[in-house]
Amino acid sequence: MRKKEFKSESKRLLDLMINSIYTNKDIFLRELISNASDAIDKLYYKSLTDKKVKINKEDLEININYDKDLRTITISDNGCGMTEAELENNLGTIAKSGSLAFKEMNDVSKKDIDIIGQFGVGFYSAFMVSDEITVISKSIEDNTAHKWHSKGLDGYTIEDCEKQANGTDIILHIKEDTEDEKYSDYLSEYKLKDLIKKYSDYIRYPIKMEVTHEHLKPKKNEKDEDEYETIKELETINSMIPIWKKNKKDVTDDEYSSYYCDTYYDYEKPLKVISTSVEGLVSYKGLLFIPSHAPYDFYTKEYEKGLSLYSNGVLIMDKCSDLIPDYFSFVKGVIDTEDVSLNISREMLQKTKAVNVISKNIETKIIKELKEMISEDRDNYIKMFKVFGNNIKFGIYNNYGVDKEKLEDLVMFTSSKTKDYITLKEYVDNMVEGQKDIYYASGDTIEKIDDLPQIEQVKEKDYEILYLTDYVDEFTLNALSSYEGKQFKNVSSADLELDENKEEIEKLNETNKDMLTAIKDEIGVTEVKFTNKLKKHPVCLTSKGNISVEMEKVINSMPGDDNINAQIVLEINENHPIADKLKTSYKKNKDEFKKISQVLYSEARLIEGLPIENPTMISNLICELISK
Ligand code: ADP
Repeated sequence: MRKKEFKSESKRLLDLMINSIYTNKDIFLRELISNASDAIDKLYYKSLTDKKVKINKEDLEININYDKDLRTITISDNGCGMTEAELENNLGTIAKSGSLAFKEMNDVSKKDIDIIGQFGVGFYSAFMVSDEITVISKSIEDNTAHKWHSKGLDGYTIEDCEKQANGTDIILHIKEDTEDEKYSDYLSEYKLKDLIKKYSDYIRYPIKMEVTHEHLKPKKNEKDEDEYETIKELETINSMIPIWKKNKKDVTDDEYSSYYCDTYYDYEKPLKVISTSVEGLVSYKGLLFIPSHAPYDFYTKEYEKGLSLYSNGVLIMDKCSDLIPDYFSFVKGVIDTEDVSLNISREMLQKTKAVNVISKNIETKIIKELKEMISEDRDNYIKMFKVFGNNIKFGIYNNYGVDKEKLEDLVMFTSSKTKDYITLKEYVDNMVEGQKDIYYASGDTIEKIDDLPQIEQVKEKDYEILYLTDYVDEFTLNALSSYEGKQFKNVSSADLELDENKEEIEKLNETNKDMLTAIKDEIGVTEVKFTNKLKKHPVCLTSKGNISVEMEKVINSMPGDDNINAQIVLEINENHPIADKLKTSYKKNKDEFKKISQVLYSEARLIEGLPIENPTMISNLICELISK
């Protein structure tokens, strides 16, 4: 029989498993049981649609056997089984989504091995504890059974064999003990029982194992001494109660995390677990998780939002997207309700009242829990917001802002005062006397915003400024337009109305009207004016109307033909020596005046991070002016 090679990436994973220094080898049993349960699920679904496939629901089960002398553990199921081709494809390559995540990690060093172990690497994890694996499987699609056999890295063989019923037996030959590892421990009733209880308790099919019991022998005579006999009995080890149906107080944090990591192939425990149970017109139990990082495919088209929908313990849809709004697409979890029938179609589901009610409740619940997190578990909230905050911001301005009121208390921005995240509510609570509006400034980084000339004046008044560093931030505030009746004001807006001595400045602008118009015509902006709000800086750019300079940058960087232009205002510091220089050159040397105007405007654009149309010309102009 010819030995076949594993595919190269499988080899890598296998190698890691065989030589793994990963400490939690225990998970191999959970992985194999989970595969067995999936196989039974598949058979069950098949029986619903294919009349030829007949099953007896009561017979569906998983069996665990062990033999101390032969050093074997056998995991058997009576599920769908595998054909020869399936054995080849499924066990010779990495198929599993969890293992796929592993594939995404290009460079796996030794120190990452603990992480890999938690991915749920599936079938191959059995090689952590076995030196030889035999899989005997009979598919419901095939009359012949097949035997797959492998001793690890050097490949595998497949041959025909005998097996009566459909299903799969996985026979592990357990490794010999080493100085560090006592693999023999797995060959005990106590250990196996413990592992099943710990990791696979919620599996919905009975996991049966022979268990020894000491029984009191029936007495022949009253006076006889107590005598015990050892009896072996087949027992169902798992409770079969799904974790979401258990009482919150009976489940430990570790159990929730373990369930989450196992189900969603995550190697990090969730940031938050939300367990909910509602009884009323529509009754349901829900278990929701907020991941601590974005799933590896979160930003791809392939990512599907949704919660698993169960009808009284039976899965009816893996990712029911109607249960969760787009802005919470990162939330994972399960809803189990008796109020949705088992046989409902995808199309009907959308129109089902129960689903609508549940989705509304779930949304409210998530918002409530997140709000609580802001005050009670702030570090984790900020962690969540850093990863998923943009989702919530999108939620505010999507659909013409219909959801904005629901979400406005969940957004955070960096404060100019603490350089830490604050909510809008906290901003308003911190407002100083006389402050009417909410101020914000946009830029690429906090440091860059801190250097903006426009913020000097606002800071001087001791007003807090929200630093907007994400490209969606300003759109979000625009969509909100106000919070608790307070308007949002961009510090770079031309009509900030914080100027002191307003009349004086107006007079100055009036007197120099011709010169200012000349600059405007030379550089082509909406307006040029003097200002007294700048302290050190000679010039700055502000904007009129709804489109700020930052928004112009964002919109124009997106694909599309339309170029949008902010109405730009160049403001010149009336107290800066450059103001006098402008005035004199305007009178005496028009050519130099134009050059200075160009340079000043370019300077202002540079500060804003805007491109300069003709950098060569400008740099030549600067040289010319310097060398004078
Ligand atoms: P995953 O189960 O996540 O897909 P595995 O590496 O654990 O990844 O298994 C690979 C594939 O092998 C499974 O997707 C399934 O098709 C098949 N398989 C594994 N165990 C069984 C089993 N007991 N019965 C039927 N098919 C199985």
